[in-house]
Amino acid sequence: MFNDDYIKQLKEKANKKKATLICASKNFNYKQMENLYEKGITDFGENRANDLLNKKQVLSDLKINWHFIGHLQSNKVRNIINEIDYLHSLDRIKLAKVIQKYRKDKLKCFVQLNLTGEYSKSGLEEQFLEDFLKKLKKYDKIQVIGLMTIGKQNDLNETAYIFRRLKLLAKYYKLKELSMGMTDDYQLALENGATYLRIGRLFLL
Ligand SMILES: *Cc1c(COP(=O)(O)O)cnc(C)c1O
Repeated sequence: MFNDDYIKQLKEKANKKKATLICASKNFNYKQMENLYEKGITDFGENRANDLLNKKQVLSDLKINWHFIGHLQSNKVRNIINEIDYLHSLDRIKLAKVIQKYRKDKLKCFVQLNLTGEYSKSGLEEQFLEDFLKKLKKYDKIQVIGLMTIGKQNDLNETAYIFRRLKLLAKYYKLKELSMGMTDDYQLALENGATYLRIGRLFLL
């Protein structure tokens, strides 16, 4: 189903830079995820609350770290928030409030930034980051560990700029972790200090 050597190489590349390799598994079924787990992939990221809940239930025997990497609607928080280990898409106070209400213990979160300048429903704009981080301090269920972003599709030059920008911002705000890098740009992300890679399609190549 998967190319063992290829996965091994990918894991080695990530390990060398001390980055965590997350399989972005939105288009993967249980069998594929189980197979990847057997090959040493222990972190999976889902985009939809219901998919994550279903997959987690089926794969409950495996010691998986569950990441939520998609846009999280406030009305899904209650069902899912105690089922995940990391949230990569914290981007608004309204969401923080609902998390604070339902989460039982501290949740490791990335603030998602939209650095492409394109309109998108996910991701905070950089100009609001300082104020956002300040406001988050009063939510004790939220532990901001880093910043997350998505590069610009089909534009590696712009994406390189975006990754460097994310790293600078993280450093400025003393945040350790950088969630960046997907199939098309993970090498670039590793070169620029990514500590969490979110990779999907590449596993299927
Ligand atoms: C799907 C997805 C990925 C992985 O994308 P690929 O191009 O398949 O590697 C990473 N991050 C997010 C937020 C995604 O939705």
